[in-house]
Amino acid sequence: MKKIAVIGAGIVGITTAFELASMGNSVTVFEQNSAGAEEASFANGCIFSPGFVTPWVAPGLPKTLLGKLLREHSPVRIGGLGAKEVAWISKWRAACKMDSYLVHRSQLHNLASFSNEVFKDITRRLSLEYENSKGFMVLYRSPEEQKNAQRVLQTYREMGVPFLEISAEKARILEPALNLETQLNGGLYFPEDEVANCRQFALMLKDECEKLGVRFEFNSNVSPLTPAQPTLITTQTGQTKFDAVVICAGVRSAELLSPIGIKVPMLPIYGYTLSAAVREAIDAPLSGILDDRHKVTISRIGQRIRVSGIAQIGGSPKKHVSGAFSTLYKVLNDWFPGAARTSESVQEWKGARAMLPEGIPLIGACKVPGVWLNIGHGSSGWTLSCGAARALSNLIDGRLPGTNLIGFGMSRLD
Ligand SMILES: Cc1cc2nc3c(=O)[nH]c(=O)nc-3n(C[C@H](O)[C@H](O)[C@H](O)COP(=O)(O)OP(=O)(O)OC[C@H]3O[C@@H](n4cnc5c(N)ncnc54)[C@H](O)[C@@H]3O)c2cc1C
Repeated sequence: MKKIAVIGAGIVGITTAFELASMGNSVTVFEQNSAGAEEASFANGCIFSPGFVTPWVAPGLPKTLLGKLLREHSPVRIGGLGAKEVAWISKWRAACKMDSYLVHRSQLHNLASFSNEVFKDITRRLSLEYENSKGFMVLYRSPEEQKNAQRVLQTYREMGVPFLEISAEKARILEPALNLETQLNGGLYFPEDEVANCRQFALMLKDECEKLGVRFEFNSNVSPLTPAQPTLITTQTGQTKFDAVVICAGVRSAELLSPIGIKVPMLPIYGYTLSAAVREAIDAPLSGILDDRHKVTISRIGQRIRVSGIAQIGGSPKKHVSGAFSTLYKVLNDWFPGAARTSESVQEWKGARAMLPEGIPLIGACKVPGVWLNIGHGSSGWTLSCGAARALSNLIDGRLPGTNLIGFGMSRLD
């Protein structure tokens, strides 16, 4: 039995603590907030997509996004460009080459499939009931958008991803409330993907962690690790020595690792969501869709609708780029007009995706003994969390990871 500290009580930290405790370890989770899932895991898009999961790198993507940058409803916004952002963009562009994209796409897909198995295993074993709905669709407004998508469909087929190419008519059968007045050319349907409430699952699993003896130290801000004693955790209330430390600190992970010589090229890529109560069920989505043109998802979470999108590079967590929310309202209104109570108590939220240039996380041992990483899950952290947690915990416990982790290790930063 090892004495292990997990830093961060987002979905990644909580799933990691659960796995480590299930293997019989003594686990303490340190969290700067007063509750779990208060940062990126708070109000994300809630799309759990083992089929569609995609690294935000692809051949041609830099050109496509650049072409849209000045448009009113661009999926990408610039909040400010400093040296850090410019260096990150240059690495990201290099990762968009075809050979690198194909490798990362397949690595991410393997991890997401494993994650789906682990997620199902946990929910079945613990009889967890969370808000969810089956199926996820990608919608193409124009023939050109649908044609451009063909490039990646072959890779889906080769990887055995379960999906169907669907006509506009079929999409409207699957989601009967889709607005007839918005042009729809066709789409993709991922029957095994789902909408699932990330924060609700995280908080339920936190309770299960406590049943296994995990201690949660809330309101504890962990200081950056020190080279002399990297597994000594320092907070504002004291110091504790552990056998191992697992970094699950989302966008703050790089700052914790920097003093021990681990430089992680991580950037917060900000995103926005709005959540509103369903006004008329008949007008509302049954599950989740992605509007491919605007890269905005709309999902049904119990009696609410959540709209999520925008990739903001640079800027700050609190300051909103102009027009971000109006894009979300526009896309909601394009597809499901009248579905949500948008005139009253709408929750508008901004969160940060901890993104590495290749679009895939770092999972595994760090070069400093005793320090382990589960960081940089970018836009798919909810989907990947259960699998990343199980694989890493297996490694820490001295077992095989249970899935292929080649490509997720620190060596790719060399
Ligand atoms: C707008 C948006 C939409 C998204 N939609 C989806 C989606 O539909 N599907 C999907 O799969 N993923 C989605 N994601 C991504 C997903 O939300 C994240 O990848 C995931 O939540 C990351 O979880 P995490 O635990 O690593 O990070 P977080 O949830 O940010 O948790 C990290 C925790 O560490 C704590 N912490 C940090 N530093 C310290 C410290 N020094 N001391 C103590 N505590 C510390 C923080 O307070 C925080 O609670 C979305 C993200 C955003 C922003």
